[in-house]
Amino acid sequence: MITEPIFLIGARGCGKTTVGQRLAAACQYAFLDTDQVLQQRAEKSIADIVAQEGWPAFRMRETQTLQSVVAPQTVIATGGGIILAPVNREYLQNNGIVIYLKAPATVLAGRLEITPEASQRPTLTGKPIAEEVREVLAQRDALYRETAHHVVDAACDPDDVVAQILAAINASHVSRPQVNSATAG
Ligand code: ADP
Ligand code: MG
Repeated sequence: MITEPIFLIGARGCGKTTVGQRLAAACQYAFLDTDQVLQQRAEKSIADIVAQEGWPAFRMRETQTLQSVVAPQTVIATGGGIILAPVNREYLQNNGIVIYLKAPATVLAGRLEITPEASQRPTLTGKPIAEEVREVLAQRDALYRETAHHVVDAACDPDDVVAQILAAINASHVSRPQVNSATAG
């Protein structure tokens, strides 16, 4: 039985929280979200942290949070910018299985426009959402790919994304999650 954590990385709106919860259920793993843990510990929102302390302080909290939550048999959804810090990229690669949920900017922007409140992050650039998503993805796609052990197509149905992740892990890891077939289908 696998004990490694599974890290989900990717841009805002790619489905890290949505897919992560379903993946955890399918594997009977715990689920947690670094952004949620960070906000609970800080007792304030990411928007407030950034406004009051600035992005560098937020990034430091993010690194501390990541390193403190890692546990066996856990699916960990990360913040979209977690891969910006080399220390985080190295930590992710060395402490679990890293999955990049890749989706085109148009898909991401469409999701964020429908439910902007789903992401508690303040705007990164102050530009219209479609433009910001395109720019941020252009800057980060190479880092997501470089950090990931597996890249999956996150533009399809959440259950299909879960199936892709399980297939990728099963194909490449000798010990693997014991998938509960009742919930994996
Ligand atoms: P993230 O945690 O990566 O920012 P979320 O899981 O919060 O992304 O998803 C952002 C929005 O997109 C939510 O409204 C969610 O319901 C929707 N969503 C996520 N994954 C999918 C998917 N595969 N297909 C359709 N909608 C999705
Ligand atoms: Mg999320």
